[in-house]
Amino acid sequence: MDANTVLLVFIAVGLDGLAGLAGGVLSEPWLQRRLPALVAFAAGTLLSTVFLEVLPEAVEARGEAAFAWAFASFVALALMEWALGHHHHDAEVAAGHAHGHAHPGAPTLPSALLASDALHNVGDGAAVAAAFLVSPQAGFATAFAVIVHELPQEVGDYALLRAAGWSRARSLVALAAVQLTAAVGAAGVLLGTRYLPSLQGTVLAIAGGSFLYIGAVDLLPELRRGPDSRQRVVGFLCGLLLIGGLHFAEAFAGGHG
Ligand SMILES: [Zn+2]
Repeated sequence: MDANTVLLVFIAVGLDGLAGLAGGVLSEPWLQRRLPALVAFAAGTLLSTVFLEVLPEAVEARGEAAFAWAFASFVALALMEWALGHHHHDAEVAAGHAHGHAHPGAPTLPSALLASDALHNVGDGAAVAAAFLVSPQAGFATAFAVIVHELPQEVGDYALLRAAGWSRARSLVALAAVQLTAAVGAAGVLLGTRYLPSLQGTVLAIAGGSFLYIGAVDLLPELRRGPDSRQRVVGFLCGLLLIGGLHFAEAFAGGHG
C-alpha cells in the first residue's frame, strides 16, 4: 500500500461526504425531473461494478470462498431490511420526500435514520478502500458507484430530517458528518490488511453481495415504476456503459481484468 493509494481512498471518501449535501444543494424542480434517471444510473453503475470489478477481484483474492461471503452479505441485508422495515436506498421514499409527502413505511426518528446510515457508510468506506488496494480501476469504479447511489438516498434523508423539524443547517451538517463515517470503514481496511491480508478480499466479497442487493433489489425495480420510463432506461444504460467502458478500455489497453 503506497501513499498514493491512501490519498485516493480519502479523496473518494471526502467526495462521498459531499454527497451528503445533495439534498440541500440540488434544486427541487431539477430533482423531481431527474431523480428517476439518477436512481437508474446508480443501479447501472452498481451492478456493473459488482460483476466486472468487485466480484472478480474478490474471487482472485479469496478463491471460491468469495461467493459464500457475497451470498452471506446479500442475505444479511435482506434480513436487515425486513427486520428494520426500512429500505435504505428506497428511491420511491426519496422521491416522495423530495415531493414533500411522508411515507408511512419509513422511520420518522432522525436518530434511527442517521444511525442506520452511519452503519451503511462504514461498509461503503471499507469497500472503497479494499477496491483501491486491488487496483486504481476497481477503486474508481467502486468509489463512483458508492457516490452515485448515495445521492438519491441523501436527498430523501434531507427531506426526512426537514420534515422532522430540523433546520436546513443542522440537517446538512448531520448528513455530511454521518456520510464521513465512511472514513472509519476505509481506515479500518487500510490498517487491518496490514495484519490480516485476507481481509481485503473478504471485504470486497461482502461489498459485492451488498452492492448486488442494493442495485438489484432496491434500485433496479425503479426502472419499471412510474412514468418517464425512457429516462430511466437511458440512465441505467449510461451507468452500464460508463463502468463497462472503463473496464473494457483498460482490458484492451493491456491492463488486467
Ligand atoms: Zn451507500
